[in-house]
Amino acid sequence: MKTETIAAIASAMTNSGIGIIRISGEDAFDVIDKIYRSQKGNKLLSKCKSHTIHYGHIYDEDEIIDEVMVLLMRAPNSYTREDTVEIDCHGGTLVMRRILEVVLKNGARPAEPGEFTKRAFLNGRIDLSQAESVMDVISSKNDFALKSSMQQLNGALTGKIKEIRGKIIHEIAFIESALDDPEHISIDGYGENLLIIIEKLMQKMNQMIASSENGSLLKEGINTVIVGKPNAGKSSLLNALVGRERAIVTDIAGTTRDVLEEQINLNGITLNIMDTAGIRSTEDVVEKIGVDKALSLVDKADFIIYVVDTSTALDENDEKIIDAIREKKAIILLNKSDLIQVTGEDEIKEKLSGADHKMIAISAKENLGIDVLEETITEMFFHGTISFNDEVYITNIRHKNALIQAVESLKLVKQSVENGMPEDFYSIDLMNAYEELGTIIGEAVEDDLVNEIFSKFCMGK
Ligand code: GDP
Repeated sequence: MKTETIAAIASAMTNSGIGIIRISGEDAFDVIDKIYRSQKGNKLLSKCKSHTIHYGHIYDEDEIIDEVMVLLMRAPNSYTREDTVEIDCHGGTLVMRRILEVVLKNGARPAEPGEFTKRAFLNGRIDLSQAESVMDVISSKNDFALKSSMQQLNGALTGKIKEIRGKIIHEIAFIESALDDPEHISIDGYGENLLIIIEKLMQKMNQMIASSENGSLLKEGINTVIVGKPNAGKSSLLNALVGRERAIVTDIAGTTRDVLEEQINLNGITLNIMDTAGIRSTEDVVEKIGVDKALSLVDKADFIIYVVDTSTALDENDEKIIDAIREKKAIILLNKSDLIQVTGEDEIKEKLSGADHKMIAISAKENLGIDVLEETITEMFFHGTISFNDEVYITNIRHKNALIQAVESLKLVKQSVENGMPEDFYSIDLMNAYEELGTIIGEAVEDDLVNEIFSKFCMGK
């Protein structure tokens, strides 16, 4: 069956230097022949070699639309493995739309979000985890996210999953053949061997599952809340971290009423910082919203930065905050270290009653101690370094769930062995683990899931 030819604007829909219209499918060359004219007017792009670039103009019948460069890629040597044409045009939204319209008028249909990548997957150029990583590469927020998704795109995760699946299928095959041919293949003592193999596999998979915590922290950023009583210096700290005046810094207590969000990159880590209104008891209604929000955010946060105004004594607000963060991953900043110190580490330690939070003296206003803060955060979350080596971080929740399910199936195999069940019981659960892992790379996945995954993509990819 002939596949439909699809087209979309592949570059951003804003005015920019160059825009790209992408066409993929069996009619891609027919379409371009109808709308492209070379300088001399006698060139047919369908007769030109693959991987060549051609200067000319796009026409809507006799009306000239734009001056362009056209890139030709013949199947299977293209992103989708289909005949593909890319039109590099001027990057104005109007002109890009006009060209797309002409392309659609001449035999292509609009591509759905992610459809080019979906075709790359369906045509076997990449597997599902690689396809998903394409979107991750595009939406990477920091160096880590980019490196990790490039690693995945290059097949690092696929490699690991295939290795594990290979071992599982090997055992299934052994069990099946031993059951078929008991005369020649002895299964005595096999259970013991299988237990050792399964333990190793589960250990590997559990490591991958565990990596997802750091993986998603690295990819999505650490949700961070800055707390402290009014005027402690929260906004000033945020400004010092961001390096620009975003939050409003003021002397009047309680002016930072709502929640500001700011993403900060520190040594490759992203902090999603929410600066909240100061936590304190108040009768003021507007003020109260901020306070409640601050308290509720403390619970949801991965990390809390508690700013103490050391030029004043601790008050009931501080006590409330200390109570709220005692069991949390938090750092305490002794701010206003440039002023005469009224409150010191000891007073806070006493109130913490045994909780061992790190304390750092800073001056948000004078930008002192901010570098130590950055180092300490990296240390707290990643023990100082973020290693890339050959560790694969699981950053996709779908992959993590599949791994969890597969581990569950292996646990059942283990139970069957330990309970002395017959061997054919092993292979059922082994097969489940095998299939579950297969969903990560897109083997035996339902169409619905494939559609759902690709619908999250952006246009033109
Ligand atoms: P917030 O209410 O906690 O957000 O506090 P702000 O950041 O608005 O700061 C309140 C006041 O304290 C402002 O006048 C700041 O300039 C001042 N401030 C903040 N940090 C420091 C500091 O480290 N040293 C000194 N001397 N003043 C500071």
